[in-house]
Amino acid sequence: MPRLLTSILLCAVAIVAAVAASTQPSADSWRLTSESEALVPDAALRAQIFRALDAAESAGTDPSISHFKVRAATVLTVNKEDHVVLGGNTEYELPEAIHGESSLLNHVTTLYGADAARHAVRFVAFFSQRCGVSGSCGDCRDYQHAVTDYAHLLIVCGQASDHTVRVTRFADQLVDEDKFPAATPDSLSITPGELARLTQSATEARMGGVTLFTTSRHTGAAGLSFSGKIYRAAGGDDAAFHYRFPIGGLLQQAATERDYFLRAIVVVGEKGQWPVVNYRDRQYGFESSSFNHEAGKSPIALILADGLGHYRATTFESDLPHAFSTANFMPQALKDFLKSHAAPAPQ
Ligand SMILES: [Zn+2]
Repeated sequence: MPRLLTSILLCAVAIVAAVAASTQPSADSWRLTSESEALVPDAALRAQIFRALDAAESAGTDPSISHFKVRAATVLTVNKEDHVVLGGNTEYELPEAIHGESSLLNHVTTLYGADAARHAVRFVAFFSQRCGVSGSCGDCRDYQHAVTDYAHLLIVCGQASDHTVRVTRFADQLVDEDKFPAATPDSLSITPGELARLTQSATEARMGGVTLFTTSRHTGAAGLSFSGKIYRAAGGDDAAFHYRFPIGGLLQQAATERDYFLRAIVVVGEKGQWPVVNYRDRQYGFESSSFNHEAGKSPIALILADGLGHYRATTFESDLPHAFSTANFMPQALKDFLKSHAAPAPQ
């Protein structure tokens, strides 16, 4: 009996301790990793981050396909008052989704206006079971780049299991086109002749596409597959603003022919200007290049041409840092898919 009593008492103590812990200020429970502390020297900002992480835990989500919850929050100061705003991911039917960070920033705009999104949002915080190294998808990078003070935006991940908090700079997920290394026709993984054909093909593609709303940055792209075929596409806009990107377009054509492995893609813009490659389009390229990796082939070379004989060259692995693809989540499914979708033998 005394032993049982002791156990009961210990349990009671444990329960009291748990209740006490849960009523502690959240700042005591979340803890920045040592590398993150330098990025957030401001105590008030730390408190906002911890408050946002507490709130993000209850952000509503509906990931009916992946079952991967993205729970996001920020705390922003508007008219000297702090406000918590939440965002969560939703998935629907064909694998399509509204993502957590885009949902969050849209809510900020809805509640406090576009200027608040641009100037008052200092961080996007995610409450996660486990904090990995992946950044946002390409589309969410485009959105955060467009609507926030992205050069100073912080990305926060609070890990549920141990309440450690990892902070990084959103800018670490970006690589501007002028940072792509300069290249010459002799320095690439394709021959000068192949480069000339791809540049010509992309230039012709750019004469098409749909530009009823596009006022700048119209581009064309051409890709060469390991089977020797060239696929090309130009950007296309529409009234719903569901822009179709050129790299995604040509990759879809290649995939339709079960020609899944590309050697190189050339992108051209207006003559005399370097083309911009949206992060969403980089995501399509990265996903496709991960097929190459799976098959033991070299990554896709991404080559920009300015139309005046100058080139820059990189890879999707380099221009989309901290990216994720199906290869991360479903490696065996990707292996099986590529095996069962081998291209038919040439006639
Ligand atoms: Zn996203």
